[in-house]
Amino acid sequence: MWRAKGKNNVIQLSFKYRVYPTREVEEKLLKVMQIEAKVYNALLDAVNNARKEGRKITPKDTQAMLKELKIDGKELVYSKALQMVNNQLWYNINSLHELKKKGKKVGKLRHKKILRVINYNQSGFKVEGDKLILSKIGEMKVLFHRPLEGKIKGVIIRKSVTGWYAIFQVEVEKKPREKTGKVVGIDLGVDKLVTTSDGVVVENPKFFDKVERGIRVLQRGLSRKKRGSRNYEKVRKKLAKLYEHVKNLMSDYIHKVTSWLVEQYDEIYVEDLDVKEMVGGSESKTLRKHILYSNFSEFMSYLSYKAERAGRRVVKVNPAYTSKKCARCGYVKKDLSLRDRVFVCPKCGWVTDRDYNACLNIFRAGSGLPLGPVDRGPLLYIPFSEGVYSKFPGRSRKSSPRGGDVPS
Ligand SMILES: [Zn+2]
Repeated sequence: MWRAKGKNNVIQLSFKYRVYPTREVEEKLLKVMQIEAKVYNALLDAVNNARKEGRKITPKDTQAMLKELKIDGKELVYSKALQMVNNQLWYNINSLHELKKKGKKVGKLRHKKILRVINYNQSGFKVEGDKLILSKIGEMKVLFHRPLEGKIKGVIIRKSVTGWYAIFQVEVEKKPREKTGKVVGIDLGVDKLVTTSDGVVVENPKFFDKVERGIRVLQRGLSRKKRGSRNYEKVRKKLAKLYEHVKNLMSDYIHKVTSWLVEQYDEIYVEDLDVKEMVGGSESKTLRKHILYSNFSEFMSYLSYKAERAGRRVVKVNPAYTSKKCARCGYVKKDLSLRDRVFVCPKCGWVTDRDYNACLNIFRAGSGLPLGPVDRGPLLYIPFSEGVYSKFPGRSRKSSPRGGDVPS
């Protein structure tokens, strides 16, 4: 049997798709979300009251209360989804507690008018063709822009400004790939998304830059409109759609690049981005920083799960001195600034691309190989317009999209 192989042979992923409920189904979804909010509020009150009276209360206690709770329309909510409301509440309670422990100033959990998720865990859902069928709700069309694979363990329906989404939680079997005998160090960057130690450069398509002006115009428009008015909502929706569009383009690109890396290399060495200070002073705009950060963390999460699935290894190395050290002689150039795009070594005279120098150091830190002569092969530049299909070694335009793997 599939699961008899044990947990070590499977990996958990989530796939996010747009769904299109009919008006009738949409009304049901909204209704359920409102009832869920009432349940959430009632349980929250119970927790608050218990604590006020100095009684200990646990997730099990509130779970047990679900049955007795008198709330209009409760029977319209699938029972497992109700239980997940309880989980959601305790997740929020614990997150708040964690923040408090870290010394962050936090408020209290508030009552909700609507819960924006309906969580079908383990049961109550079915996929037939391009339709998702939910118990107590009905069916809706799913736009499978990437194939859904694996065994579905749960579905979360989410409402956002831009529409309705289904997030499928699946278990897929690991598929170890044949060894290629190749290992690589990679540097992630802003100008070039990836530079590899064997000289491949993957351009950063910078989708955001292309719509930045449009975003600024919309933001200005938004600030002039009355909050909550119909026009305000209209602009807000437009803005959200634009962000979503850019995010989807970038995710798709990151999928292609990470799939290619995992296909090509047995081991991939990369800087530990949790440790590295991501963006220097030249990037002052917070929105940019945020987008950059989310691109890098998306990159790392795709790379990690794809590698795990394929039986490859991703090794995180300490980012200290990866940029400032000469990969040829080991000299540390302390005054190298973010603006220096070319690395010029004052000791041995080596002149090379800054990011290429960095990924050679990353390669050495990951592979444990000592410093040695560096050959000066020219960088293979891959412009975005050519895309990853045509220019990436080992991929053709016709190769089928691998996986529908979009962790949400
Ligand atoms: Zn040097």
